[in-house]
Amino acid sequence: MTAVRPHAARPGVALAAYTTLGLGGPARRFVAAEASGEVVAEVRAADERGEPLLVLGGGSNLVVADEGFDGTVIRIATRGVRLVGDGDGDGDGEAGTVTVTAAAGEDWDALARRCVADGLAGTECLAGIPGLVGATPIQNVGAYGQEVAETIGTVSCYDRARREIVALAAADCGFGYRTSRFKRDPGRFVVLGVSFRLTRGRMSTPIRYAELARSLGVGAGERVPLADARAAVLALRRGKGMVLDPADPETRSAGSFFTNPVLGPAGLAALEHAARARLGPDAAVPRFPADDGQVKVPAAWLIERAGFGKGYASSAGARISAKHTLALVNPGGGSTKDLLALAAEIRDGVRAAFGIELTPEPVLVGVRL
Ligand SMILES: Cc1cc2nc3c(=O)[nH]c(=O)nc-3n(C[C@H](O)[C@H](O)[C@H](O)COP(=O)(O)OP(=O)(O)OC[C@H]3O[C@@H](n4cnc5c(N)ncnc54)[C@H](O)[C@@H]3O)c2cc1C
Repeated sequence: MTAVRPHAARPGVALAAYTTLGLGGPARRFVAAEASGEVVAEVRAADERGEPLLVLGGGSNLVVADEGFDGTVIRIATRGVRLVGDGDGDGDGEAGTVTVTAAAGEDWDALARRCVADGLAGTECLAGIPGLVGATPIQNVGAYGQEVAETIGTVSCYDRARREIVALAAADCGFGYRTSRFKRDPGRFVVLGVSFRLTRGRMSTPIRYAELARSLGVGAGERVPLADARAAVLALRRGKGMVLDPADPETRSAGSFFTNPVLGPAGLAALEHAARARLGPDAAVPRFPADDGQVKVPAAWLIERAGFGKGYASSAGARISAKHTLALVNPGGGSTKDLLALAAEIRDGVRAAFGIELTPEPVLVGVRL
């Protein structure tokens, strides 16, 4: 672990400047930690003071109260990437596998870009996702047919319950669709670094996502050059406002605001019934296979069919993105209260139309939906 370099804590820092939504009131105490030892020392000190703690990465999956956060906010600013592979003489195992270990404060997309440039497969479809490496295991970041659960080897964390640093193997992280042990037990683990096991090669992992396969002109399950996969994902994401761009107000969001509902056979039958009643006898509910014989239904489809189209707004302070039904944006000058009022309206509308309860994807800090 690197040496502890204490940074001056600052009071009253506006968290809006640290969230991609541009929303959130002041933190009682704000500190940026540039070394893992500093992160641990700050967490321990806050715990000893009995003070609420918010670990802040890139703020791209956070909805923070207008009132702010009455506790310590630790902004993770640790850096460092290390590649260890077969042939490096460390006995790392499987031929063609490279372990990439990155500090929690590394920028995720920069790491994914570097992996593609270095000829390492496994993160090429996760291009353009904002935020930091340390947050990727929290909700098992995923897009376009890949998720980090497939490549994470170990997650190094400070365990606040045991007050020690632990290395959790992927099998112990409880990964699922947009969830993990970290998300289910919020606050217990502070991620210090993540190791990814990537495959050396020029080609991508098999392309699973139909929209991506179409845009690449290949069939599902085929492989394409890594750089092509990355470029195609970025192009698709840009079209939906899903790549951060200060010049594009449609990207002032927290990404998808709701997860896609996962339904068993009975839930799907009830939804199909409700869809026919609302949309007519020919209504076909789109779905994708999920684990254990369940299906994933696109939340965007439900939201649109419940009457909330792209650009929808019920106040001047929040609206649905003009590019992506699942993203709620701060048009500028909005508030968290406005955003949550819109989210509640959409959730209630989908429930009334289809009997489905949408679940928010971002982490809500000091607010509830
Ligand atoms: C335009 C846009 C597009 C997006 N697209 C996608 C997508 O395609 N797929 C996807 O999965 N997500 C997507 N997201 C959501 C978001 O980018 C990811 O969830 C990302 O991993 C969040 O990283 P962050 O560093 O910004 O975390 P933050 O928003 O800062 O934090 C999120 C949560 O993680 C916790 N956390 C952060 N760092 C640590 C740490 N080191 N240790 C412990 N806890 C920590 C925080 O306390 C908080 O609970 C998108 C967001 C935006 C704005």
